[in-house]
Amino acid sequence: MRKSLFILTLLFLYSCNQRSIHSGRQTITVTIAPYSFFIREIAGDDFRINIMVPSGSNPHIYEPYPRQIAGLRESAAYITNGFLGVEMSWMDRFKEINRTMKIVSVGEKIEPIASAHVHEDESDHDEAVDPHYWISPKCAIIIARSVMDLVGELNPGKRDNYEENYEDLVQKINDIDRKAKTLFAGLKERSFMIYHPNLAYLARDYGLVEIPVEFEGKEPPPSRLRELIDIAERENINTIFVQKEFDTRNAKTIADEVGAEIKVIDPLSEEWLDSTEDIINGLYLSLSGNEK
Ligand SMILES: [Zn+2]
Repeated sequence: MRKSLFILTLLFLYSCNQRSIHSGRQTITVTIAPYSFFIREIAGDDFRINIMVPSGSNPHIYEPYPRQIAGLRESAAYITNGFLGVEMSWMDRFKEINRTMKIVSVGEKIEPIASAHVHEDESDHDEAVDPHYWISPKCAIIIARSVMDLVGELNPGKRDNYEENYEDLVQKINDIDRKAKTLFAGLKERSFMIYHPNLAYLARDYGLVEIPVEFEGKEPPPSRLRELIDIAERENINTIFVQKEFDTRNAKTIADEVGAEIKVIDPLSEEWLDSTEDIINGLYLSLSGNEK
């Protein structure tokens, strides 16, 4: 009698456990919002997504709240970009909070570009590698693969389904890659100016030249600002790109001086496809408008 009660209890516990696996979604934490796009495209709503750096914040210097760090205990996995200041400073602590959390660093499979960011007094924030690869469609294909492998591993029952969605996503990224190649191929002017230099990978992958306004990861000193005005005139710069999270004052000073416009971009958007397309279109309009 006692034995059968024990078996019943075991069965009950087992079924509870199964139920929580099937109905409760696992959580994946991502450092920045664009990675939620890749998870949703491949796995729909199968995972709860926790974004470490909220919209409007700067991932190079972000300090997470204690409740965000504590919240990592519920994460089955963490997708790091790799080389972002917040990760350089906090990843070890994140790993301590949750030792079983699976960690995927998408940057590991991407050919790196040495960083333009040097933070003068915070050595643990130093980013040896430029971390902005997610904005290039060529890099995004590699990122999609890493995300697909992760969600397939976390939820193996739906791996076939995820592979199909991944193929669809690769098609979409290939379309935007082809579009970028076609648009940029015939340009004579290839240099663009941007406040915070987040388009180095896009520039490398499509043969453009990025001219940053930021100087060593901070506002340019007046002497550099004057230099930039000369460069802008020489390179026929008609647009200065500014990321939503950054102050436009310095960019505006140069723009006013040379008669250029400010174009605000949103590379940290959760809608990766829309924001990347907007950046590519913006670059094309700016560079093609330069042609005489
Ligand atoms: Zn950045």
